[in-house]
Amino acid sequence: MNYKTVQTPARKVIALVAHDNLKSSLIDWCTKHEASLSQHRICATGTSGQLIEKHCSLNIEKLISGPLGGDQQIGARISEGDVDMLVFFWDPFEPMPHDPDVKALLRIAAVWNIPVACNFASADMMMASSLLDQPFDKRVPDYERYIQQRSQ
Ligand code: PGA
Repeated sequence: MNYKTVQTPARKVIALVAHDNLKSSLIDWCTKHEASLSQHRICATGTSGQLIEKHCSLNIEKLISGPLGGDQQIGARISEGDVDMLVFFWDPFEPMPHDPDVKALLRIAAVWNIPVACNFASADMMMASSLLDQPFDKRVPDYERYIQQRSQ
C-alpha cells in the first residue's frame, strides 16, 4: 500500500459507540468532557446517541442503531474521510449478534489511521491530546494511486 499525508481539521468529527453494558460509562465520559466535545461535531449510533443527548447538552447526529447497521454506517463514513476520531466502548465480556460489524468497524478504523479509544482511560488520554483542537497531519492509504495501479 502506498500512503499519502492528509490534514485532520482542528474541529473534529468524533464518532461515539457503546455496547449496552458500557452505555453508562460512555455517558459518564461525555459528561466529563462535555465542554471539549461541544467544540467538535459528534455522531453516534442510535441508542448511544439518544442516551447521551438525554444526559448531556450535546448535539449528536444520531445514526442507525448498531445492531441494525449503525456500526457499518460509521465504517462507511470513515472510508469516505468523514470521521476523524472514534470512541468505541465495545463489551469485552459479551458476544454480540453484530460481532462481525464490530470487527469490521475496528478494521476500517485501522485502515484509515483513525485514532480509536476502546475504553475510558484511552478516551481520556485522547481528549487530553494537544492535537484535539488543532489540525494535524496523518498518513492514509493513497487511494488514487491504489486504484490506478490496480486498473492498469
Ligand atoms: P446502539 O449501537 O448505540 O444503537 O446501541 C451500539 C452497538 O451496539 O454497536
